[in-house]
Amino acid sequence: MPLPRGLPVVDHHCHLSPNGDGVRAVERFRAAGGTHLFLATQNYEGTVPLSLEAYGRQFETTWRLAEKVHEEVGVRAFPVLAPYPIDLVEASAKLGPATALELHCSALDLAGRWVREKRAVALGEVGRPHFPVSDKVAAVVEEAFRHALQAARDSDCPVVVHCSDLTADGLLALAAQGREAGLRPERVVKHYSRSRVAPGSVAGVVPSYLARRELVREVLKDPGPWFLETDYLDDPKRPGAVLDLATVPRRATAIAEDPAQGADRLWVPFVESVERVYGWRPELSPEGSAE
Ligand SMILES: [Zn+2]
Repeated sequence: MPLPRGLPVVDHHCHLSPNGDGVRAVERFRAAGGTHLFLATQNYEGTVPLSLEAYGRQFETTWRLAEKVHEEVGVRAFPVLAPYPIDLVEASAKLGPATALELHCSALDLAGRWVREKRAVALGEVGRPHFPVSDKVAAVVEEAFRHALQAARDSDCPVVVHCSDLTADGLLALAAQGREAGLRPERVVKHYSRSRVAPGSVAGVVPSYLARRELVREVLKDPGPWFLETDYLDDPKRPGAVLDLATVPRRATAIAEDPAQGADRLWVPFVESVERVYGWRPELSPEGSAE
């Protein structure tokens, strides 16, 4: 059985690099049935940005990649922008924690402005390093995360959170932290979720699941919102380090071909969850390409 008619096929978190596979990776995605990508920014210049101008250039590159992918491949890519939380580690060492924090918050405000100007759809990745850092850096990280949540509230958009794996308690704390900043838990997405969280334990936080075969099967029957992602890195130095960009459409096709799995469930991650978290639906043209 083919994919349900009119179904967009959406990877909720990937990165592309102007120096990597870039457009060719998106061609593989498209050939496998993919239609829409959430394109998270990254440092493209090989160094952590140490000025607001450098962050501006970084966001511009992400935005241009998204435009290029739409023009050349017909896949819609939605930019997700923020200074990477781990930038704070190196920036604190080079600029001092106070200056690093100030720069980080300005870059978050800049990303928020891009959202309000409709050149990005969410703030991400924001959050915390997934490895231990000094107390001084940890304090700066927490301050920056609070600012990120407030910036998302001010721009009325979701946050895509990078942090270590969370237990039910961790998700509860994350939801509380969002609420404190005035952000509904449904606007807080835990990206790179590697194991199923029972729907009753997510505290309203939205898991974006890594599209591994077993995990997709496990979560398929869960009510939304939840997403599927590859966290594709497009790093020529680390081929195969993460899932390939063609993975989400391949999983979707495998589900559609297995009558026991229920292709109709695919509307949950690809359409209904986007609508609940972002407030709009990914659309297809009558010919089936991304609008
Ligand atoms: Zn990422």
